Amino acid sequence: FIQALQLPADDKVKEEKDLQLTETQKKKLDIEETKRSLPIYPFRDDIIAAVREHQVLIIEGETGSGKTTQIPQYLHESGFTADGKKIGCTQPRRVAAMSVAARVAQEMSVKLGNEVGYSIRFEDCTSERTVIKYMTDGTLHREFLSEPDLQSYSVMIIDEAHERTLHTDILFGLVKDIARFRPDLKLLISSATLDAQKFSEFFDDAPIYRIPGRRFPVDIYYTKAPEADYVDACVVSVLQIHATQPLGDILVFLTGQDEIETCQELLQDRVRRLGSKLRELLILPVYANLPSDMQAKIFMPTPPGARKVVLATNIAETSLTIDNIIYVIDPGFAKQNHFNSRTGMESLMVVPISKASANQRAGRAGRVAPGKCFRLYTAWSYKHELEENTIPEIQRINLGNAVLMLKALGINDLVHFDFLDPPPHETLVLALEQLYALGALNHHGELTKLGRRMAEFPVDPMMAKMLLAAEKYKCSEEIVTIGAMLSVNSAIFYRPKDKIIHADTARKNFNHVGGDHLSLLNVYNQWRDTDYSTQWCYENFIQYRSMKRARDVREQLVGLMQRVEIDMVSNPTETADIRKAITAGYFYHIARLSKGGSYKTVKHNQAVTIHPNSALFEELPRWLLYHELVFTTKEFMRQVIEIESKWLLEVAPHYYKPKELEDSTNKKMPKTVGRSQMTD
Ligand code: ADP
Ligand code: MG
Repeated sequence: FIQALQLPADDKVKEEKDLQLTETQKKKLDIEETKRSLPIYPFRDDIIAAVREHQVLIIEGETGSGKTTQIPQYLHESGFTADGKKIGCTQPRRVAAMSVAARVAQEMSVKLGNEVGYSIRFEDCTSERTVIKYMTDGTLHREFLSEPDLQSYSVMIIDEAHERTLHTDILFGLVKDIARFRPDLKLLISSATLDAQKFSEFFDDAPIYRIPGRRFPVDIYYTKAPEADYVDACVVSVLQIHATQPLGDILVFLTGQDEIETCQELLQDRVRRLGSKLRELLILPVYANLPSDMQAKIFMPTPPGARKVVLATNIAETSLTIDNIIYVIDPGFAKQNHFNSRTGMESLMVVPISKASANQRAGRAGRVAPGKCFRLYTAWSYKHELEENTIPEIQRINLGNAVLMLKALGINDLVHFDFLDPPPHETLVLALEQLYALGALNHHGELTKLGRRMAEFPVDPMMAKMLLAAEKYKCSEEIVTIGAMLSVNSAIFYRPKDKIIHADTARKNFNHVGGDHLSLLNVYNQWRDTDYSTQWCYENFIQYRSMKRARDVREQLVGLMQRVEIDMVSNPTETADIRKAITAGYFYHIARLSKGGSYKTVKHNQAVTIHPNSALFEELPRWLLYHELVFTTKEFMRQVIEIESKWLLEVAPHYYKPKELEDSTNKKMPKTVGRSQMTD
């Protein structure tokens, strides 16, 4: 610094250059120092030697020890990418893949997308030069379709293996198989918890490398009685910590974007009212749909004298490590997909976490110093009500997607596929039945031409079928937009607490009598007509970033439509055709109005309710198609359209019989408002 200032005054350019250099150099030194301080660092050479010696290696080390960010760099530095092959590393979560890639690019002083990149669904940020590639487990699963032997990789790291997502579980079987006929491929299975033994046994007793943990004690506190409103309890706890505890950042675990936004607003509101009585509190959210520049903020150092509170989904449980967390607030819940193989219904619901999860969460408080974890449930509840471990996804979600992918890879005998834990037999059978009804499989269980085309789309089979059906109903432009909008889903409408009435009125202006899918189409088309204006979004309480994402997804889908040779044609007025195309994909999701004015699903007579946000909330059409079920106080159908029962016989003749589709309501009941306003 001083040296630079001593330069002659006229040598301005050089002076600035020197100053800059010092800054960059300083940053580099900082990064170098941080890298050296990670628990994994002393074992660098050991790990490389172990990888050289063994084809498959299980790596176990505490969250934050440096597995995800460092191991690929170590391998790259040691020549594993020298022959033009890549190092791949899978992550169960999109956000983690992006954020970790960004960090590693920074550590290596390269531009993200060049030597270090990531690839997630609908977004590929890699190039010819990429040698370290982070990706979601789903993306790697897909890559098997175009490169069944993973020839372009020298090392594949299946990271966060303990999360046991469906894709990760299936990858275990696939990579184990590949390793047999590609002796040059190195395989690393990395896990944060104690499942290592199980992974080792699965991979023919592969050696386990344990990175010794460094953890400070964490004091655990429980509530005396259960909390009625845990979001509110979180707000109170944050403020209490802030007012009474020594400095140190806080991490709060919530279940999703909605909850995080509510909590954020409540906190901001109360902090504002307390005024300058407290020191500064930075409130930062992190969840899957959060734009990446906002995600990066959670890693920024807290300014001296201030405190940071991060409101996160369970993404922060093991996938992301935020330094300097001293306090953890754990309400004990997470959002999970649940599939009922008896009814074939899948629903997103908030469920209590497992003990293993609770312990991971608490551990986040003890990385840099002794910490405190505040569990917003009772000690009794922890001991007696929480399960030991989270059930792996493969045993609790719909397997349609996975089965379609495996069939597309030519794996026909799914019953004998090498699963770490096999899925329940009835779930597998149901997935096969669903794919048969969708026309993706023939009655021998073999992939049809339609099935092959469906497998081209990185979406679930129902949506793939809907997209393909657009060809027949000549509305590909509209269906692709609807598909893209459904993919970004709940994050489209913005509803600030102090402008709820305005926001809801704005939203109602987009409502379409045919239903919510068409309302979403309205939103997109109007936005497009303003030439994708930010101002328009702002005025209409629409989240610009979500729309931008929808536009990106839409572009990708259009590319895929071209790949399966479907022309883009528009049919904006015939909404019946658009709705038929949707029905061709989602005919499993049909509910019928019953006598009391409530809805029951057609095949299984399950009670379901229209979500209050829906355009059809007050309309009560006789036949409804829903996009998804969300369980809160009851089973809500989110995103519904009105359909006609005879369409079901047209699009799914081997699934529905005419007898099943008789109206159960009083035949003389007046036609609904929605029906009389329909244009078709
Ligand atoms: P592990 O995979 O063993 O859980 P990681 O490699 O993810 O550990 O993390 C190692 C360190 O890198 C942590 O201290 C973490 O805070 C830091 N880190 C990871 N991602 C980022 C990022 N995007 N920005 C800043 N620091 C990061
Ligand atoms: Mg990791």
